[in-house]
Amino acid sequence: MFSRILIANRGEIALRIIRAARELGLETVCVYSEADRDGPWLEQADHAVCIGSPAPLDSYLRIDRIIAAAETTKADAIHPGYGFLAESAEFAAVCRDCHVEFIGPSPEAMALLGDKISCRRMAKQAGTPIFPGSEDAIEEESEAIEIAHEIGFPVIVKAAAGGGGRGMRVVEAEEDLQSSIQSAQQEAVSAFGNGAVYIEKFLEKARHVEVQCIGDKHGQAIHLYNRDCTSQRRHQKLIEEGPAPHVPDDIRDRVCESAAALIRNANYAGAATCEFLMDRNNDFYMLEVNTRVQVEHPVTEMITGVDIVKESILVAAGEPLSIRQEDVSITGHAIECRINAEDPGRDFMPQAGVVETYRPPGGYGVRIDSHVITGYRIPSNYDSMIAKLIVHGRDRNEAIARMKSALSEFKIGPGKTTIPLHLRLMDEPCFHAMDVDIHYVERLLDSAPMES
Ligand code: ADP
Repeated sequence: MFSRILIANRGEIALRIIRAARELGLETVCVYSEADRDGPWLEQADHAVCIGSPAPLDSYLRIDRIIAAAETTKADAIHPGYGFLAESAEFAAVCRDCHVEFIGPSPEAMALLGDKISCRRMAKQAGTPIFPGSEDAIEEESEAIEIAHEIGFPVIVKAAAGGGGRGMRVVEAEEDLQSSIQSAQQEAVSAFGNGAVYIEKFLEKARHVEVQCIGDKHGQAIHLYNRDCTSQRRHQKLIEEGPAPHVPDDIRDRVCESAAALIRNANYAGAATCEFLMDRNNDFYMLEVNTRVQVEHPVTEMITGVDIVKESILVAAGEPLSIRQEDVSITGHAIECRINAEDPGRDFMPQAGVVETYRPPGGYGVRIDSHVITGYRIPSNYDSMIAKLIVHGRDRNEAIARMKSALSEFKIGPGKTTIPLHLRLMDEPCFHAMDVDIHYVERLLDSAPMES
C-alpha cells in the first residue's frame, strides 16, 4: 500500500480524494497554483506545494513540476482527479518512468480507449453497442460517401483523438461531406496533433446514459450500473441521476455487462465510464469511454454504497476489487445538481469573486461535495463548478422532492449561481416524465430565458 498520495488537481475533487485517502490512513500532498493559494482544501492536506502561476499551462498541466513535487515530498502515487492531466497517457507514462504510481489505468489502456477509432473496434469485439459507421480512419472521399450512404444521412464526422466537442461536424447531405471531413481533419490536427477522423450515424434526439465501471490489475472488471445525464447545456452536464430512469432491466443489464467486458478486455485498472446515447427505442450507441473518475461519481456511490475513489486507490496499489459483480445492487435513487458560479440570466456569465454567504443544506439523504467556505474567493482561471449537491431517496419522486427542498435551503452570494435553474428544472413536467433529449434544457432556455 502507498503511504503518501499527491493530488494533481484542485477544488472539490481534491477534497474528495483527501477524504478518501485519510480514511485509508494515507497522507496527502496537494499541488496548487498561485490562484489557489488560499484554497480551503489545502488546509485538509498534509502537505501543499505551489507549482506555478494561475494559468493551467503553467501549473496544473506542468508534468515536470508535478513529478518534482512528488519526488521532493516522497509521494508514492499521484491521483489526477478529472480534467487537467487525468486523461493524458503521456502523464501516466512519465509517472511510471519515475516510479510513482498513477492512480488510474496504464498508459496503454488509456491510449487504446482514448482513441475513438480503436475504442470502437474494441467495443465491437466486447459486444458493446456502437453507432453504425466507419471501422477505420477515413482515407478517401469515395469511401466516406459509400459509408454515409450505407448508414444514411445525417452523419457526424468525428476526430479519433477528439475531446471537448472539438473536431466534430454534423453532415446533412453528400455535397457537404468532403468539406466537413477536411475541416474536421484540420481542426483535429491543430487541437490534438492527430488528424484521423471517422464517420458514424448522427442521432438527432437521444438521452445520455452512461455506465460506471471499475477494474483491477488482476483482470477483473465490474459495472456499478448506470446514470442518466441528459440535462445538459452546450454539452456540459447540469444534472445527473441514477439509476437511469425508464431503461428496461434486461437492456440495462446487457449494456452494463458489455461495458464491463470492454473495460476487462482493455486490461483496465481504475474507474472508467462508458458513455452512450439512447434513442426512443431504448437502443444504445457508445459515444466514448472516459478513463478517469467523473464529476458525477457520487450518484453511483449513493445507490450502490461503493466508494469509487477509495476503491480506485486500492486497485492502483494492486489490491483486487473488494466487491464482486453479484454483490453490487441498487438501493433507491440519487440525483446530483452541479452548482456553478454562473448567472443563468446573463448567458451563464462566470461569477468570480468572494463568496460572502455560504449556507449549504443538510439533513437525511443530502450530500454536498464542495471546497467552498464563507469568505472563499472564486478564482476566474478555472471551471465555475463550486459545489455538487447530491440527494438520495427511496425512489425518484422522493429524490426530486428532497432535491427541491435542499436547493431552496442552499444560500450562496452575492454572486449568482445555477441554483434557480435547477429549481426550475425540478418542476419541469418533461423532466418528471423523462420525456427529454440532450437539447431539452437549451430549448427550454430559448423559449423562456432565466431572469437575472
Ligand atoms: P468529446 O470527446 O469531444 O466530448 P463525444 O464523442 O463525447 O466527444 O461527443 C460529444 C457530444 O457530441 C455528445 O455528448 C453528443 O451530444 C454529441 N454527439 C457525439 N456523437 C454523436 C452522434 N453520433 N449522434 C448524436 N450526437 C452525437
